Amino acid sequence: MDKKQIANMLEEMAFLLEFHGENVFKIRAFQNAARALGNASEPLEVLLEEPGRLEQIKGIGKSIAANIREYATTGRCNELEELRKKAPKDFENLIRVPGLGPKRLRVLVDELGIQTLEQLERACRTGEVTKLPGFGEKTVEKLLAGIAQVRSFSGQWLFPQGWEMAIKIVEDLKSLRSVKRIEIAGSLRRRKEVVRDIDILVATTDPEPIAARFVANVLVQSVVAQGDTKISVVLTNGMQADLRMVKPDAFPFALQYFTGSKEHNTHLRARAKKLGYRLNEYGLFPEDEKESARAEGLASVREEEDIYRALGLQYVPPELREDLGEIEAAQKGELPTLVSKEDYRGILHCHTNWSDGADTIEEMARQARRLWNAEYIAICDHSQSASYARGLDPERLRKQLQTIASMNKLSTDIVVLGGTECDILPDGSLDFPGEVLDQLDFVVVSIHSHFNMSKEQMTQRICRALEHPCADVLGHVSGRLLLMREPYALDLDKVLDAAARCRTIIEINGDPYRLDLDWRFCRAAKERGILFAVNPDAHSVGGLRNIEFGMNVARKGWLTRSDVVNCLSRNDLLTLIRENRNFRRRLAGRGTYSIS
Ligand SMILES: [Zn+2]
Ligand SMILES: [Zn+2]
Repeated sequence: MDKKQIANMLEEMAFLLEFHGENVFKIRAFQNAARALGNASEPLEVLLEEPGRLEQIKGIGKSIAANIREYATTGRCNELEELRKKAPKDFENLIRVPGLGPKRLRVLVDELGIQTLEQLERACRTGEVTKLPGFGEKTVEKLLAGIAQVRSFSGQWLFPQGWEMAIKIVEDLKSLRSVKRIEIAGSLRRRKEVVRDIDILVATTDPEPIAARFVANVLVQSVVAQGDTKISVVLTNGMQADLRMVKPDAFPFALQYFTGSKEHNTHLRARAKKLGYRLNEYGLFPEDEKESARAEGLASVREEEDIYRALGLQYVPPELREDLGEIEAAQKGELPTLVSKEDYRGILHCHTNWSDGADTIEEMARQARRLWNAEYIAICDHSQSASYARGLDPERLRKQLQTIASMNKLSTDIVVLGGTECDILPDGSLDFPGEVLDQLDFVVVSIHSHFNMSKEQMTQRICRALEHPCADVLGHVSGRLLLMREPYALDLDKVLDAAARCRTIIEINGDPYRLDLDWRFCRAAKERGILFAVNPDAHSVGGLRNIEFGMNVARKGWLTRSDVVNCLSRNDLLTLIRENRNFRRRLAGRGTYSIS
């Protein structure tokens, strides 16, 4: 469980309290607690372990602290369950419809008896909703769009939500003597950004104690199906988890099979068939049963690598198994050596308490060094237009740069780079004058407002921003928030063309809600010669973990260490930035375009 999940729980409480017409102070207390927890810099484990630590956070009182502890340890909160009982049947989905607040929901329930998403949709379509006071045509339109969005997102979880549950189950089972090997399989192993369920695979000759331990896990809410070798359960967060137990001999085959994807496996089976084999979750067999020589060769398969080798292929890392050309490349020996954690040298794009982050520059730098052994970290707080995020005006930015300069004099451990996450304004100009940006080591340009422009306008807006000499990196390109907000309308091809022309680095934002640029487009960008920055966009030291999620995307996008600028030494990075800026200045000088 992470802070975000607990904050969501507190927000749900606030919503339900308001829905039930409870007193305003109590509602606010839960809303404030959700925010306070989100902003707290300590990791959740620390807050929970040390007695009284939670209560020290301003905005979290005794009783809410008790709610948090209960929820974090058991995955349930009694007070919340009581409130849920009196809520509409399909409350969990209704609450997620954008624009449907507690007050509106109350009216819909009281006047029309709405209990489910389906009933709400019908009432919107039959015109019943528009007859209610305060519900116009526009509102109904928005509700219908929101319902469609909730439908497409339900039953899905962000990668870390699934990963953390899976790790806890694996840790619990690992200690059993009868577990010979254990792995997380499925889409989690392939590092998909959004997952539907958890697959865990165990090698054993003695499944019974493992099954017993699995169903007794505190994270398990109910058992859906239990056979001799497969158990399906629903976890406390609503996710389904499948545990499969296989004989040790079959383990590599089962691991390959249950890692998927379906498309990759179909392609692999076809290749096996062409070579005269039959491949399935139990093994790799010669089609001609009498070919004992080949069968003997296969008896030596211990790992997935051996399966791919037997099929004349390079080992395909799980992240690439999407049937997007990896089997063809593996056959030619042309799979890329994927970028890895060990290649990562510097952190770019972090926020601090100068804008909407929770921690100080010092703390971010210290943890960057400790957790990632980073050589450098670029502080990129928000720019002046982002007033909701306490964006810095040129004067505060200047002060921040002074602070950074004096810090760098004291510390030899890690170099702090001065930067900004500069808003791209609606007309495509940047939120700081050129001479302010020019003093910064590193400039990320991003869109944080006016999302509802037409595709043409939005594309133009971004392309224009990229022509600015100081637009070093384009941040979270599509603006999507996974399972929450669709990307804005955008002609990505045109944007990538512009980035290639202007030598703009494209960000892979590691925030698990963003993971933007999407890995599906990384190769298209790479083929244009574009470089990438894998950035945590951390708003606290805990957010530095996002680097890991960003690296998952880079790997899924076939990127190597030479594609990722965070793998450069500080000097090489700064040289690259300088050269790119000069290049864009020359472009502007040639009159290819004009800059403001
Ligand atoms: Zn941003
Ligand atoms: Zn940011």
